[in-house]
Amino acid sequence: MYAKAHIHSMAPYIPGFQPEAEQQVIKLNSNENPYPPSPDVRKALAGFDYALLRRYPNATAEPVREVLAEIYGVNRNQVFCGNGSDEIISLLFKAFLEEGSTIALPYPTYSLYRTAADIHRVHCEFVPTRDDFSIDTEALLAVPSQAIILVNPNAPTGLLVSVDVIEELAGRYNGLLIVDEAYIDFADGEASALRLIGRCPNLLILRTLSKSYSLCGIRFGYAFADEALIEALDKCKDSYNVSMLTQTIAAAALRDRSYFDETVGRIRASRGSLGGSLRRLGFAVPDSETNFLLCTPPAGSGLSARRITEWLAERHVYIRHFDSPLLEDKIRISIGTEEENSKLLTLLEDLLNRPEDETVPSGD
Ligand SMILES: *Cc1c(COP(=O)(O)O)cnc(C)c1O
Repeated sequence: MYAKAHIHSMAPYIPGFQPEAEQQVIKLNSNENPYPPSPDVRKALAGFDYALLRRYPNATAEPVREVLAEIYGVNRNQVFCGNGSDEIISLLFKAFLEEGSTIALPYPTYSLYRTAADIHRVHCEFVPTRDDFSIDTEALLAVPSQAIILVNPNAPTGLLVSVDVIEELAGRYNGLLIVDEAYIDFADGEASALRLIGRCPNLLILRTLSKSYSLCGIRFGYAFADEALIEALDKCKDSYNVSMLTQTIAAAALRDRSYFDETVGRIRASRGSLGGSLRRLGFAVPDSETNFLLCTPPAGSGLSARRITEWLAERHVYIRHFDSPLLEDKIRISIGTEEENSKLLTLLEDLLNRPEDETVPSGD
């Protein structure tokens, strides 16, 4: 056995199932965007001189940092770019968290934090959410910790903590407050903690182009924080962490504000209508500020969340079921196109209207 003992014994991160690219499926299991990226991305790729690929990319993704600084009204030195926000999560541990230190985070939340902590031998103190999945920030503060991590809006619950609460938390906390805003573009109103940058030196905001810009495939994440925090990330990153193609595509997508507004608007509208239809079928569907819905199957339908997930997968419709505490009786559905959502609803209606004996779980 060559792996370090703690790597050997840790549980790996389990991503959502990815079918082969050519397969015709309805894929609502990874919170991907159902629309293609901006048409400006296609133009940028068509105009890209392949001969440039013999060179290294800009080491700090400077052109993209500038676009981000301009769009979001921060200084260039308050922005960091990474190979997906997953890379930045790993860098947070490298740069800020000593082996043996403790991070406080709500449960449930994005499970990659646990994996990154395990790799870096950082202890996770999970603070359960309340019965309605709302986050108990007082309980998070009460844990002696070096960092608090909030996914906001949270995954997989879809719930949002207000900026005022985040500001108060940052002010009362001595450690690093990490706010992962992977889904913030789908939230209502002025939900982002961005306006606290420059005021809260212990705040670091993580973002990604994966979800709201429909660019999971290029791997581009970014962070906003005070200059001192950004400098530490810059020291720890791989020397050329963002590829030339990724930088080209990211800048093109970010500049196309109208396409972004239109597609995000469509997803938010579909979230409302899909939620309404699921409720009419008897599902419990709390309001979501993200591009997914966490739902509980109708009580008394005799259908478990796992059974529904498997039954849909047999019909090439993929949603997500988490085999973990508080979540086993729920399904998470990413918002698809109107057509995908209505196919899903038709199938669910079929399943719910089946005679009892056909819906008995097959031995699970
Ligand atoms: C999807 C997701 C990420 C990962 O983003 P990438 O930029 O694709 O690595 C990070 N945090 C949360 C909460 C996510 O849901």
